[in-house]
Amino acid sequence: MGSNPTPRTEVREKQFKESMTHMNSLHCTDNGLFSALSRWFGERFTKYMLESLSYPSSRYYIRVNTLKTTVDYVIDELRRIGLEVFRSSFLPEAVATPIRGPFKISIHAKKVVVDKFTAESVMLGADVYSPGVIRAKNIGEGDLVTVVAPNGRPVAEGVALISGSEMLHRKEGLAVKTLKSLFKAPKIRALKLFTEGAIYDQSLPAMITSRILDPKPGEVIIDMCAAPGGKTTHIAQLTENRATIIAVDRSKNRLAKLEENCRRLNVTCVKTLVHDSRYLSEVIGENYADKVLLDPPCTALGVRPKVFEKRKAKDIVATAEYQRQLLREAVKLVKRGGIIVYSTCTLSVEENELNIIYALRKMRLKLVKQERMIGMPSSTVLKNIPLGYTQRFFPHIHETPGYFIAKLVKT
Ligand code: SAH
Repeated sequence: MGSNPTPRTEVREKQFKESMTHMNSLHCTDNGLFSALSRWFGERFTKYMLESLSYPSSRYYIRVNTLKTTVDYVIDELRRIGLEVFRSSFLPEAVATPIRGPFKISIHAKKVVVDKFTAESVMLGADVYSPGVIRAKNIGEGDLVTVVAPNGRPVAEGVALISGSEMLHRKEGLAVKTLKSLFKAPKIRALKLFTEGAIYDQSLPAMITSRILDPKPGEVIIDMCAAPGGKTTHIAQLTENRATIIAVDRSKNRLAKLEENCRRLNVTCVKTLVHDSRYLSEVIGENYADKVLLDPPCTALGVRPKVFEKRKAKDIVATAEYQRQLLREAVKLVKRGGIIVYSTCTLSVEENELNIIYALRKMRLKLVKQERMIGMPSSTVLKNIPLGYTQRFFPHIHETPGYFIAKLVKT
């Protein structure tokens, strides 16, 4: 391999430079996010809310797949491999294990810069794979290195398993073995329990969403944005595979992932459909479903941990408009008297409360009281928003990702 940069390293260099332009921290001002949120939540609340996103929640949640096993069995198995495990006091199928940290990371002379996505998992203890490396100057095999995010935040220290130039050229394989990370979360997906379909890792609010839908055997349920199927498979579990679930997603590849999850988790009552759900009633018909789950794409501002946020205020506006298109279709799909649950993992008022206010004004919908209020009603924090029956999870208050859930009935 010559010393000229290959196209691949050029791509990585470009990625690195782009990331540096987003160097502004989470509560930055120049992407407009802080003001987009603080105009609703106030500056102090917004500051704490955004700061908490740079750290993971204190607990890692796991859903026990009761189609295959029992909660007691899973707890025993997790304890047997040395994990501390708690039962959720809210959901019988949920267990949690602590995420430890923050730990002190030594700053070594040699640094491996990784992309945002890689940094966010290495921060929790994952190893670094070559495709995630965007800069690795003067690194030799066996060197002790500090792994840093594109904005310079150290996320772990580890040992280089190959040289820096190999890291930049290889398309797969381990690059740095992580020895100590800022936080330590269990590698749930590597467990036999996971590969055998006994458990699924899912945040607490994500699990609560399917509980709030309250699926019953015999019902026809449409999941409009279903892949990779965390909520679909939970809904199936709650009905013991006795509902008819139509899982729709625009992405064929992501839907293939959902099908794989259904097989592993022993979910048998799901029919999949690749379609743009904004036009779903054209193929499924109107007034078809007893219940509809709409978990649309969102700006994901509530997802944590983040090393920085790359979304801008203008993304909120465009995404909210897209979600309204899906909401209008959800109303067509559900029967009169049927239920729509709308959820997002984002913090913006535009994608959450304002979309619900829009739906209530324009469509034959009413808000329904939610059986499981573990977060808080939006109106507790947003004094000008008269929505008593919505549920918000705030990362700095509830120790969860930021999340929103609304339950509506078609009148
Ligand atoms: N509910 C899922 C996560 C959904 S993420 C779970 O719990 O696992 C949002 C999904 O919406 C993505 O898979 C994306 O491919 C899909 N999507 C985006 N626009 C869509 C559209 N117009 N119609 C159908 N699916 C869409």
